[in-house]
Amino acid sequence: MKHRVAIVGAGVSGLTCGVLFAEHGYGTATFAEETGQRTTSATAAAILYPYDAEPADAVIAWAVETYNVLVDLNRKPRTGVSIIELRQFSRTGEAQIPNWAVPLGGRALDASSVIPTSFKGGFAITVPLMDTTIYLNYLEERLIKAGGSITTNVHLERLEDVSSEFDLVINCSGIGARNLVRDVDLEPHRGQVAIVPKIDSLSCAIVCDDPPLMYAIPRTNDSVFGGTNELSENRDVDPTVTSRIVAECSRVLNIDNPKVLAARVGLRPFRKSGVCIRADRLSDGRTVIHNYGHGGAGFTLSWGCAENVFQIAARSTAALGR
Ligand SMILES: Cc1cc2nc3c(=O)[nH]c(=O)nc-3n(C[C@H](O)[C@H](O)[C@H](O)COP(=O)(O)OP(=O)(O)OC[C@H]3O[C@@H](n4cnc5c(N)ncnc54)[C@H](O)[C@@H]3O)c2cc1C
Repeated sequence: MKHRVAIVGAGVSGLTCGVLFAEHGYGTATFAEETGQRTTSATAAAILYPYDAEPADAVIAWAVETYNVLVDLNRKPRTGVSIIELRQFSRTGEAQIPNWAVPLGGRALDASSVIPTSFKGGFAITVPLMDTTIYLNYLEERLIKAGGSITTNVHLERLEDVSSEFDLVINCSGIGARNLVRDVDLEPHRGQVAIVPKIDSLSCAIVCDDPPLMYAIPRTNDSVFGGTNELSENRDVDPTVTSRIVAECSRVLNIDNPKVLAARVGLRPFRKSGVCIRADRLSDGRTVIHNYGHGGAGFTLSWGCAENVFQIAARSTAALGR
């Protein structure tokens, strides 16, 4: 008999795991305080870009696995996944092609590429982009279609509070794991973005992670301007920061400041000792598999990490002889 699996969390990590378990025939129920569009995941620019997550080797492997799944999703209708050129620039000199970009075809910008005057050099790579306004709903619908369920407004004090009808618990609680499993290694890396209308001249993603962090990402119906990264758990939008983000992006793009449609804040779940994927026992003897701490790369690592969780689950349930 297949296990009954409870997934805690309905951000990109929980929804991706939910899809995988439900499509493999597990009875899958998701419980979360906040769902899809109200999670940190909904704030993300959600481009495949391994940022602010450790350890490097595992991150690259998860990112490559995720890349392959997303390239397939781009071929299907209404997933919210597209393929876009990302141009990463440096403010100080030649931008090295980082290790993660090598297996994915990162290339030096050629002489014909226009380098905005604020920058010195850069590289280009073609990567998947997930439009969170579509992609998170797509994952939810796919989970439900596979027989899974999502229950919202559920705040768990401890993982043992998950109903005993579930014999396997998957912990995808993002920054919430700090309190839920008392993980002192987790740090909230606060990020703020501004959502602005579509910009005709913005046809590729522009990123610079030399300070000040800056990115401009065109989506289906709008554009995301960012960003910030500071150690803080304040989820309130700071209007001064919104103005600064819009001014810097507009300066780089050489456009007038666009109208701000919305501003959002999310807490990247950065874990000092690296992304946490491991099996453990709850005090009542049930198995829990943790999947949190993806920092600024939760979308980038989502399918690779979910596969990893699924393999651990398959191994631990086989070991129990069920
Ligand atoms: C500004 C910004 C830009 C970003 N850009 C990118 C990008 O371009 N590419 C990329 O890959 N990543 C990006 N990220 C990072 C990405 O958003 C995160 O890594 C990712 O959203 C983490 O997803 P998650 O599902 O693990 O956590 P979350 O989305 O935070 O979801 C956690 C879930 O757990 C639930 N939960 C927590 N605690 C409890 C509890 N006690 N009881 C019940 N439910 C609970 C929450 O309600 C929620 O449903 C960005 C982040 C920010 C803030």
